[in-house]
Amino acid sequence: MILHLEYLEPDESSLVPAGPLRAGKPVARLRSDAAAALAGMIEAAKRDGVHLVVLSGYRSIVEQAKAFADAEMRHGRGRGIRWVAPPGRSEHATGWAVDLGDLAAPSADDELPFADTPSGLWLSRHAAEFGFEMSFPPRNWQNVGPEPWHFRFVGSPESRAAFHPGAFATVIRALSAAWVFARS
Ligand SMILES: [Zn+2]
Repeated sequence: MILHLEYLEPDESSLVPAGPLRAGKPVARLRSDAAAALAGMIEAAKRDGVHLVVLSGYRSIVEQAKAFADAEMRHGRGRGIRWVAPPGRSEHATGWAVDLGDLAAPSADDELPFADTPSGLWLSRHAAEFGFEMSFPPRNWQNVGPEPWHFRFVGSPESRAAFHPGAFATVIRALSAAWVFARS
C-alpha cells in the first residue's frame, strides 16, 4: 500500500490567486508557474466552448488535517486515506495541484462523473499540452482512488522534479512511505 507521498510546503510568496472559482468556493491559490499555465489552459478550453472552474488549489497542512479528519468521519476510521491524503502528503500542499470542475455541472464536482463532462473530456485530451497531468487515473501505482478532477503541474523543472524524481528516488520514497504507514 503506497498511497500518498510526502511533500514540502511552498513559500507563501510564491502563491497567487487562480480562477474562475465555482460560486461560493473560497479563493484558490497556486504557485505562480502553475497559475499562469492554468490561465492559458482555461482560455484555450473556453475557445473550444468548454468552461472550467477552479474548485481547490493550495491547501496548507492545517487545512489538509481538517479535510482528512472529515473524510475519516464520513468513510470510517482508517478508510479516509483512500479519499483524502493525510496532512503533509497531499499534492495540494505543494501549490502545484488543482481540482477542476465544469461550470455547468456542479453536481459532478469531486466525483467520478466529472470524467464524462465536457470539461473532463477536454482535460483528458489537452491537459498535457499545458503541463498538467491527472495525478490519480484509475489503477494508479499509488493505489489512490481515481480522481479525474485532480491535476498536478509538471511543466516546470522544479514541479517535474517534485512529482517525477528519478527512478531511484521514487523507490526510496515509496519504501519510506510504506515504512511510515506500517508504523501508523
Ligand atoms: Zn485534489
